[in-house]
Amino acid sequence: MNHDQSHALFTRAQTLLPGGVNSPVRAFKSVGGEPFFVKRADGPYLYDVDDNRYIDYVGSWGPMIVGHNHTAVRQAVKQAIGNGLSFGAPCEAEVTMAETLTRLVPSCEMVRMVNSGTEATLSAIRLARGATGRSRIVKFEGCYHGHGDSFLVKAGSGMLTLGVPTSPGVPAGLSELTLTLPYNDVEAATALFAEQGEHIAGLIIEPVVGNANCIPPREGYLQHLRALCTQYGTVLIFDEVMTGFRVALGGAQAHYGVTPDLTTFGKIIGGGMPVGAYGGRRELMAQISPAGPIYQAGTLSGNPVAMAAGLAMLELVQEPGFHDRLSASAARLCAGLEAAAADAGVAVTTTQVGAMFGLFFTDQKVETYAQATACDITAFNTFFHAMLERGVFLAPSAYEAGFLSSAHDDSIIDATLEAAREAFKVVKG
Ligand code: PLP
Repeated sequence: MNHDQSHALFTRAQTLLPGGVNSPVRAFKSVGGEPFFVKRADGPYLYDVDDNRYIDYVGSWGPMIVGHNHTAVRQAVKQAIGNGLSFGAPCEAEVTMAETLTRLVPSCEMVRMVNSGTEATLSAIRLARGATGRSRIVKFEGCYHGHGDSFLVKAGSGMLTLGVPTSPGVPAGLSELTLTLPYNDVEAATALFAEQGEHIAGLIIEPVVGNANCIPPREGYLQHLRALCTQYGTVLIFDEVMTGFRVALGGAQAHYGVTPDLTTFGKIIGGGMPVGAYGGRRELMAQISPAGPIYQAGTLSGNPVAMAAGLAMLELVQEPGFHDRLSASAARLCAGLEAAAADAGVAVTTTQVGAMFGLFFTDQKVETYAQATACDITAFNTFFHAMLERGVFLAPSAYEAGFLSSAHDDSIIDATLEAAREAFKVVKG
């Protein structure tokens, strides 16, 4: 593959954008090499500026669940644009969006639109703190909730260790309020709540971890967290920015049958436009300004063009059988990857929930963050580049989930598996 144009753009970009990118993972730092620059995208494919074509398993990090550049979404955006780009006053599409979200995710009796997943999560913890009058929050190792200060924290090895910031610029006084637990560990959560439950405003979790590769919850785990939060009066927040409308129409909460107090959304609800939202029980949401005293606002929130894109996307994912078909494709892909790896003599396991999947270079079943980070990263990086050279774009990090879209039909999965059979041989060496 020729990458001359991408290389030239990356060279220009690096002098002006930190690391040459506007979001760190795009820079390929963890897999090595240089990113390609995208010219256009269509269906399951990305096309770069050197006219290379890639089957895309990143899907803009989740939003593109109906494939890139879908006609219905594009038409909706075109129509909305004809009426103006931003009003700074309420419009009908915001109401329709609120009606759609509350219907599809019944735990959300009211919602507030924002502009990114990060805004959604930091607004949700402000609400949890404001509503409970408490200041501590709990998050889980390996879960990512955007770049809000309170989330850029990792705990020390002891579960009760106060949070230590993972980024300079996060004040210690704030990160100390973030307690971190190991995901999928019932005892650790029970012990933390026994000790500090009465001080914990909110517990935020990715119900299926998608930011440490893909780690599904153990059976009963989310139910256990629900029970703890109910017992201690802690606001349970499901961060469904990734899982929402992806693992099932009603998100992970519908898939696992657990009702959170608040939910955060992003990605799919914007159809590729910059959108987020948070919602939950009416009694909590009614405390948000101007209905209540907890402040949160946004110049571009509820933007008419973004609402139009999101509503068109949400129409498409409601088609009967949509998620079953996606889930079947993802299962076929995962089974095929495991078989191809086994044929090549490479140890690989996969995880899958709906249209989200994980690929781990290990022979162990992965259920924890510690297991995910113990996998063979060098093997992943070799595999990543071998796939890229064969026209398949996986997330450029061993710690990201893979995303399928409805444009990934059988022929696309077959082409991916053909590339994977070769790429696993490269890994084997
Ligand atoms: N929450 C989760 C689970 C995410 O995966 C992400 C982003 O990947 C975010 C929050 C932050 O969303 P954004 O990048 O739109 O700010």
